[in-house]
Amino acid sequence: MATAIPFFEQVNYNFDKAARFTQHPLDLLTQIKICNSIYHMTFPIKKDDGSIETIHAWRAEHSHHRLPTKGGIRYSTLVNEDEVMALAALMTYKCAIVDVPFGGAKGGIQIDRKKYSDSELERITRRYVYELARKNFIGPGIDVPAPDLGTGEREMAWIVDTYIQLTPEKLDARACVTGKPISQGGVCGRREATGRGVYFGLREVCSFAEDMKPLGLSVGLEGKSVVVQGFGNVGYHAAKFLQESGAVVVGLAEHDGGIHAPEGLDVEAVLAHRNDTGSILNFSGATTLQNPAEVLELECDILIPAALENQITGDNAHRIKAKIIAEAANGPTTAEANDLLAKRGVMIIPDAYLNAGGVTVSYFEWLKNLSHVRLGRVGRRFEETTHTNLLHVIEQATGKKLSEEEITKLGHGPDEEDLVNSGLEDTMIVAYNEIRETQKQCGEAVDLRTASFINAINEIAQSYMELGIFP
Ligand code: NAD
Repeated sequence: MATAIPFFEQVNYNFDKAARFTQHPLDLLTQIKICNSIYHMTFPIKKDDGSIETIHAWRAEHSHHRLPTKGGIRYSTLVNEDEVMALAALMTYKCAIVDVPFGGAKGGIQIDRKKYSDSELERITRRYVYELARKNFIGPGIDVPAPDLGTGEREMAWIVDTYIQLTPEKLDARACVTGKPISQGGVCGRREATGRGVYFGLREVCSFAEDMKPLGLSVGLEGKSVVVQGFGNVGYHAAKFLQESGAVVVGLAEHDGGIHAPEGLDVEAVLAHRNDTGSILNFSGATTLQNPAEVLELECDILIPAALENQITGDNAHRIKAKIIAEAANGPTTAEANDLLAKRGVMIIPDAYLNAGGVTVSYFEWLKNLSHVRLGRVGRRFEETTHTNLLHVIEQATGKKLSEEEITKLGHGPDEEDLVNSGLEDTMIVAYNEIRETQKQCGEAVDLRTASFINAINEIAQSYMELGIFP
């Protein structure tokens, strides 16, 4: 088995590969690459049985070139300093790739969340926020967390509530975290955003005949076979939107095993089955695979790792049969596997681009919190009236009468969810075309990951140069 290269080193390997295609001086590249701040905290929590446990937690702010910094918080036993620094760096590049004006950050608490009661998890989360606040590592203009592996709306609600208690005088306090429930200042569409972004990204990637041809694939998502590893927030939503667009989900993996059905799995039915039984395994009509890693090696057009990092490695890369690897998770492919797969002509859509839907919609949520108004509230009714008036003028001019249903559909003014999804769709399309353009300019030696890093480096370098720090 190959020795595991530290995750942050792998991110930096990709950075260095891309930096060779830029003209920036070494000291500027070093400044971009380095992690600006890392805070390792330990604190005690009282368990329900009265015992005391010491918790290890981290927050890394990789780049302060734009503020606030932004990045998720994960609860996992695998969390460590190297991991949060690597994930924070990926956030910096991700934000630059999709033109979201944040530096990158990431946080994590080293726990197995399944081993704690809800009240213990609440105490751990609130104490974590308190520790961050004490060191000025959280705030609407400082560092804004979001959900990640093992966390969701509930944890974000505890975070915002704790922060508001600590800073009652701050008008913008709700913007201290994103991914909140709507009632706590969240935005419609955030829950689905990362998976929806994966879908928009893949749809764009598959729309170019000249890129699909060498893979032996036709244009579009219709009929493409898809395997998804991880049926959590990102994996479930990616699978759902892809299935709705005509793709066929043939395999799913979870931590306890996988399921396979070459003729297709009904994603909603699998979700219902898991809700009933606690597992996706033994789903009716599908073959159960005891080892989740086997699912990665199933025959398919598109493989979507949407669970953990380091899943596709030098050890299993030669057994991967997918033609496209769509990195919904952060860091699922090691640098070694990336190079082996690239040699075989497998197309890898990089994480820093493909899973950027979450941070994009988090940006919209942050803007909503700072403006203290629901997106679409001011203009929606006015737009609806204008559209309807226009339709009536057209009716009079053409003599054609539209039905009530047509008037309602065509006259519809955008609500918050429409605006969020439209902004997300636009972001994923524009960013992919920029990456593709860079790849075309640089030629064969550059894959999509390197092209996306080149774009990120150029964007960040520009902002440092505008500050006048570097020539
Ligand atoms: P999640 O906790 O909701 O889901 C992860 C799922 O993976 C869980 O259901 C878990 O049981 C499963 N899993 C764990 N080990 C597995 C294994 N060995 N094989 C198969 N499945 C396994 O987390 P999430 O928010 O969906 O995040 C998934 C990935 O996407 C992470 O890499 C995260 O950093 C990345 N990501 C998430 C967001 C977001 O908005 N949530 C944004 C960008 C990137």
